Amino acid sequence: MNNSNLLLKNGSKIAIIGGGPGGSFFAHFASRYAKEAGIDISIKIYDRKSFCQRGPRGCNMCAGVISENLFNNLEKEGIHIADFCVQRKIEGYCLQTQDESVSLHHPVPGHTPKIVTVFRGNGPLQSSHEGNVSFDDYLLNHVKGQGAEIVFEVVKDFKMPARKEEPVIVISGEGDFKTEFEADLVVGAFGVNTGMMERVGNMGFGYKPPKTVRTCQCEIMLSQEHIEQTFGNNVIVFALGKSELKFASITPKANYVTVNLVGRKDLTRNNLINFLDHPTVRQWMPEKWRIPNSFCMCISKIPITYAKHPFADRLVILGDASISRSYKSGIESAFNMAKMSAYTAFKNGVSAKSFMNGYFKPAKRLLARDNLYGLMMLKINDYIFSNRKLANRQVRFIKSNDDQKTTSLINEILWNMLTGNVSYKEIFVKAINLRLISKTLPLNPLFWIRRKSDVIKNV
Ligand SMILES: Cc1cc2nc3c(=O)[nH]c(=O)nc-3n(C[C@H](O)[C@H](O)[C@H](O)COP(=O)(O)OP(=O)(O)OC[C@H]3O[C@@H](n4cnc5c(N)ncnc54)[C@H](O)[C@@H]3O)c2cc1C
Repeated sequence: MNNSNLLLKNGSKIAIIGGGPGGSFFAHFASRYAKEAGIDISIKIYDRKSFCQRGPRGCNMCAGVISENLFNNLEKEGIHIADFCVQRKIEGYCLQTQDESVSLHHPVPGHTPKIVTVFRGNGPLQSSHEGNVSFDDYLLNHVKGQGAEIVFEVVKDFKMPARKEEPVIVISGEGDFKTEFEADLVVGAFGVNTGMMERVGNMGFGYKPPKTVRTCQCEIMLSQEHIEQTFGNNVIVFALGKSELKFASITPKANYVTVNLVGRKDLTRNNLINFLDHPTVRQWMPEKWRIPNSFCMCISKIPITYAKHPFADRLVILGDASISRSYKSGIESAFNMAKMSAYTAFKNGVSAKSFMNGYFKPAKRLLARDNLYGLMMLKINDYIFSNRKLANRQVRFIKSNDDQKTTSLINEILWNMLTGNVSYKEIFVKAINLRLISKTLPLNPLFWIRRKSDVIKNV
């Protein structure tokens, strides 16, 4: 077989479907590797959204926390998040149970974490700021500066070539209007909130999209003063013993807070209202605060498994639509996968085999296995924090600081679970510590018998 047709060369054209982080990061690395290889390529990024719009129409719907690892990696790549995008610099997390709360801090004393919060689109529906504060738009402008062309059109379809040496035909446009573009490589960075996943799943080369659940989020406007005084620079994570919720948090921005709920199953607006109405959540809101009649709200999907076979000759799929870290730092995963897949495309070519060996196998090694440790850690976390007594016990233990060594270990484990700073495996290894278990879990068998009967009663 002559594989030279499946190598990128001078004049090669890349079409990227999706201008979220996955798409922009791929364009960034493609530009860099093309330059290093001394070849001239062209890149077109398609997105159906314009990130200049406010509200869900111009937003890729997430809590907007940029992890410290990603922040540092972006800096290394010369991508300095502009001040106008940064809504708040985060210094800590606060764990709030039904009765107690405790501050968590970076495990290295004195280290100020480089975590920032952003809006993915141009802010909430009702916001009235000037200019465009969108993080996704900022990334698109960065790659535009590197020479990528941004096309604000929906990709309706693409046709895989019958023969290896032929290009992929990308079909875009609104209504009856249709444009065709011949690409030597198509990058699927379309995320999980699109029908494109199913369409590609039906193409017959083996792609199976990740399973997803629907999450629920909203932006609540609060005075800057209240946010400063009550939230400060802390993300609040709630453990309220609500069995339908896997994760609940409030992330402070400048004059908004983003409420973020991830469930075991699909969530709805009702889950959000119930959460906002919870007395413990209300404690964080101004006195006499009432849930506004209208606020910026969205239901967006999150992947809970990874895709099968996200590649073919001249096609690679990355970001949420492919493989990412479970429940954590999705944008950072998109960055890492974009780097790996772009590197493969330029160094080894754009054949299915190249993507399998250079991108997907290593990605699975990096993330899929680690996600198994993640699932175990999340189960342990769920078990402890869904029980009022156990959750309070943990929080009181940290606050008491009676046993400094164990307290800092719990702080470190929780910090890393919440920020995604280190791999799940590393966290798991730290958590399997007899001293820690004996200090923090009740050794009285009666407790466990009662706990078991509580669980059975609640089923
Ligand atoms: C509730 C929630 C909270 C989250 N919080 C965080 C967080 O705080 N930090 C973090 O790092 N991650 C977070 N994530 C994860 C993060 O949002 C994703 O991992 C990340 O957005 C994935 O990037 P992506 O580029 O793969 O997909 P997306 O960001 O979804 O981008 C896909 C793009 O493709 C476009 N598109 C789709 N189909 C087409 C088409 N046919 N034609 C043209 N364009 C198309 C879409 O318009 C979109 O712009 C969160 C996710 C959820 C659901």
